[in-house]
Amino acid sequence: MNQFNILTIYPDFFKSFNKHGLIKKGLDKEIIHINIIDLRLHTQDKHNRVDFKTYGGGPGMVIQYQPVKDSLETIKSGKCYFLSPQGKTLNQKKLIKLSKEKNITLLCGRYEGVDQRVIDNLVDEEISIGDYVLSGGELPAAIIIESVTRLLQGVAEDIDSIHNDSFYNGILDHPHYTKPEIIDDMSVPDTLLSGNHREIVLWRRKQALGATFVKRPDLLKNVKLTKEDDKLLQEFITELKARENE
Ligand code: SAM
Repeated sequence: MNQFNILTIYPDFFKSFNKHGLIKKGLDKEIIHINIIDLRLHTQDKHNRVDFKTYGGGPGMVIQYQPVKDSLETIKSGKCYFLSPQGKTLNQKKLIKLSKEKNITLLCGRYEGVDQRVIDNLVDEEISIGDYVLSGGELPAAIIIESVTRLLQGVAEDIDSIHNDSFYNGILDHPHYTKPEIIDDMSVPDTLLSGNHREIVLWRRKQALGATFVKRPDLLKNVKLTKEDDKLLQEFITELKARENE
């Protein structure tokens, strides 16, 4: 079982999150467990406050050291990750690593963040979900839990579909089509209707490589392409150029 501990001042934020899709499946099948810890229940302040004004003056409040420390003491093991715009940006490689950790603590900041001594002494690593600023770490924590959970064996019906998703193998996913075969004069590519499994595999690989080439060429620098991949990509580029010249 993979356990996620969430340290937050808004425990109710996660109420509906737990009730849908793969998170619900993971919880029902006991593949994951989500332990929500309300920082306010661990404050020694008689008014239940966990934040205070920032030393040196200026706007904004800061979450104090003590409630975080006391909350962490209720957790037996595992690393503590602070969700922070100053952390290393999350990517699929990091999520695969996180999926192998059995006990993860996610500390959600609010206001100006947490007392720096929390980061220096209680946190193992800071994780950012991108170069922009949210009001709190709850959404980033939910993002981590959701994207780690779908990687866990037994959660998704078909783990192969997860392994074909964008980024899992360093490139983007191929296009997908469903019923009807024709809509608004657009048809499903013939290969997908051919029933020829080998051809379908090759078509999908070619389209995945092509989508990466067109949309995220930077990714191709970090993947090792086979000779067959090179050939498929060259075919894709030739076909693309031909379409552009039509
Ligand atoms: N003063 C902080 C700074 O500029 O680095 C930003 C604080 S932000 C308003 C409040 C909290 O939201 C943060 O402590 C963090 O937990 C969360 N947060 C905001 N943006 C984030 C991001 N890009 N990734 C992860 N967490 C984020």
